[in-house]
Amino acid sequence: MTKRQKPCPICKKPRSEEHTPFCSVRCKDRDLAQWFGDGYAVPSRPASPEEIATADWDRQD
Ligand SMILES: [Zn+2]
Repeated sequence: MTKRQKPCPICKKPRSEEHTPFCSVRCKDRDLAQWFGDGYAVPSRPASPEEIATADWDRQD
């Protein structure tokens, strides 16, 4: 099992195990705030592989 340490997505500091994937609860809160605010542009929902597979099945005659 390879464990790759990625940095905190908010501040790019090494993440802490306790607050993975963030380095601290502060960054975790900041991430949440961004979701509820407009820090992140919410893209249209991408089709999941399952949906694509289902669509293919539906198309079969
Ligand atoms: Zn951080």
